[in-house]
Amino acid sequence: MNNDTTKDVVRMHNVRFTWPGKRGFGIRIDDFAMQQGERLLLLGPSGSGKSTLLSLLAGIVTPQAGCIEVLGTDINRLGSAARDHFRAEHFGIIFQMFNLLPYGAVMDNVLLPLSFAPKRRQRTEQAGGAQSEAHRLLNALGLNQELHDSPASQLSVGQQQRVAVARALIGAPEIIIADEPTSALDRDRQNTFLDLLFSQVGHADASLIMVSHDETHASRFGRVAELNDIIRLEAAS
Ligand code: ADP
Ligand code: MG
Repeated sequence: MNNDTTKDVVRMHNVRFTWPGKRGFGIRIDDFAMQQGERLLLLGPSGSGKSTLLSLLAGIVTPQAGCIEVLGTDINRLGSAARDHFRAEHFGIIFQMFNLLPYGAVMDNVLLPLSFAPKRRQRTEQAGGAQSEAHRLLNALGLNQELHDSPASQLSVGQQQRVAVARALIGAPEIIIADEPTSALDRDRQNTFLDLLFSQVGHADASLIMVSHDETHASRFGRVAELNDIIRLEAAS
């Protein structure tokens, strides 16, 4: 079903999802697409399903029905190991709580996704090596060289967030997913963080989908959508 002329990186069609064992929350996504290079912000209040949508998109959870196509691959037809591999290769994911390895050095955190993503590793090798690419990203994100070997837990929240961005971007995955990445930062730091994120996403020519309950930064995005225009809540039984 892939049509090269439109360059959709993501298509969801007739998707239905309920959390196993959880009554009262079910979602339906009739049609949703995202184009190559798009910078999309999805807005919705807490509990509206933003993180659930991102989990579906990245193949972390599987819908009960429907089709989720990423870069031309129907990800729910992949077995779970193949889906994990697909996610590692093609998605850079910035979680709300960053999920860094606290005792790991900053560099180890940034290099980690490459262990599961040979194509991303190869891209870093073409760019001069994984180590130098990790240093380049960290420096571009404003983390000085002397911090690169520190344990991640010794960094401030804002600095840890930059490590999470470098980890998502290393090896230039096609799609960057960011789940409320600014929620722990004050306004000034949010702006700095987004400046850096956008410039690095542009450098990698990636597509960006960010979800948030906060519309403050909407004007930076090429497309802004309300979550409830994309997903319908259904009472699941
Ligand atoms: P948001 O990210 O917009 O705050 P979520 O997608 O996290 O919303 O949550 C939407 C609904 O799905 C909520 O009712 C929440 O309790 C439920 N939910 C989220 N994650 C899980 C999970 N792992 N198991 C069961 N229910 C979940
Ligand atoms: Mg959430």
